Amino acid sequence: MNIHEYQARRLLSSFGLPYPVGRIAKTPDEAGSIAAQIGKPVVIKAQVLTGGRGKAGGVKLAEDAGQAKDLARHILDLNIKGYPVKRVLVVEAIDIAHEFYLGITIDRVSRKPVMMASVAGGVDIEEVNRQTPEQILSLPIDPLLGLQEFQSRQIGFSLGLTPAQVRQFTNVASSLYRAFASLDASLCEINPLIIDRSGNLRALDAKLSIDDNALFRQTEIAALRDLESEDPLEQQAREQELSYVKLDGEVGCIVNGAGLAMATMDLVKLYGAEPANFLDIGGGARAERVATALRLVITDPNVKVVLINIFGGITRCDEVAKGVVTALEQVEVGVPIVVRLVGTNEDEGRRTLQRAGLTAATSVTEAAKAVIGKLKTAVESR
Ligand code: GDP
Ligand code: MN
Repeated sequence: MNIHEYQARRLLSSFGLPYPVGRIAKTPDEAGSIAAQIGKPVVIKAQVLTGGRGKAGGVKLAEDAGQAKDLARHILDLNIKGYPVKRVLVVEAIDIAHEFYLGITIDRVSRKPVMMASVAGGVDIEEVNRQTPEQILSLPIDPLLGLQEFQSRQIGFSLGLTPAQVRQFTNVASSLYRAFASLDASLCEINPLIIDRSGNLRALDAKLSIDDNALFRQTEIAALRDLESEDPLEQQAREQELSYVKLDGEVGCIVNGAGLAMATMDLVKLYGAEPANFLDIGGGARAERVATALRLVITDPNVKVVLINIFGGITRCDEVAKGVVTALEQVEVGVPIVVRLVGTNEDEGRRTLQRAGLTAATSVTEAAKAVIGKLKTAVESR
């Protein structure tokens, strides 16, 4: 689960991270009066659940309250990568001498939290990671020992900080790690962490992703969920208890069971295509859930073909087939569907599909080849 910057900076401030004062506004007037209260130049920042706001014109400097109001009006009208801006954060503007990147995430390879830092902070860290990854330091953290002070010092000096700044940095780093660990975060990022004109470290941005599996015990954070601002697709999936993760490929996948879903994605890749999503309809899915899954998958405009891979056990093939047919009756699918169906009530499932003009493959390789064939036709007919 992702939360907004204004929520994340509030949480991180409580762990001691040095954020300048700021407040949230829903209207240009509110933004103007917050700026007047601050009484200094301010930065107006769009609050949307996506990064790259600076580049999209969602972060602007205002010299006074009047300008803050005008800029807030403009930013509240923006739509950033499909997310309409409903609130802006108005914060005291800081004079920046240098921008750093500092973040903690889980490294799945070493199975440890890893602290990442870079002198090349600011708006383009993804680009830095692609072009000059050696500019990003990363340091594994032993989860039993926590972040050690010598590690923070080592990073601080590698960033070229002065001894006095390194002392501030060790506080920032240890606060960030305490926040990361106690909030069950999967990502905790300050970009930029800056040095201001008087040589002090300040945090200017906050990104916090919380592990969904920990939300049962992070009740305060769970309550921050902003339904209106989340990706509507992932929201529908959650309501239907479908595990859906959107990816960038062109093959929509509908599968029963997480393991088979992962194997299906591998198979799609093995045959030279890319999955558009991970989707586990769960064990024993009934027709309605399958129909929702199909509707969900085809809402993604990148999807050129849908692969339904069912290994029936608790999940009955006839129910899945009914779901597919129901969805086909309700919505214009518009892309070819390849089904692989084996297991419980398979014959009945096949008959149901046949009535809707679909034939199901028996083996996964047969299905994968059919997917690639349909994909080729789709590309050629464009
Ligand atoms: P993002 O683009 O969504 O990551 O939004 P950020 O909050 O990181 O802001 C983007 C950029 O705006 C930062 O890298 C800074 O260069 C700039 N910025 C943000 N806050 C301030 C500020 O208080 N003062 C100044 N001068 N620039 C700021
Ligand atoms: Mn940023």
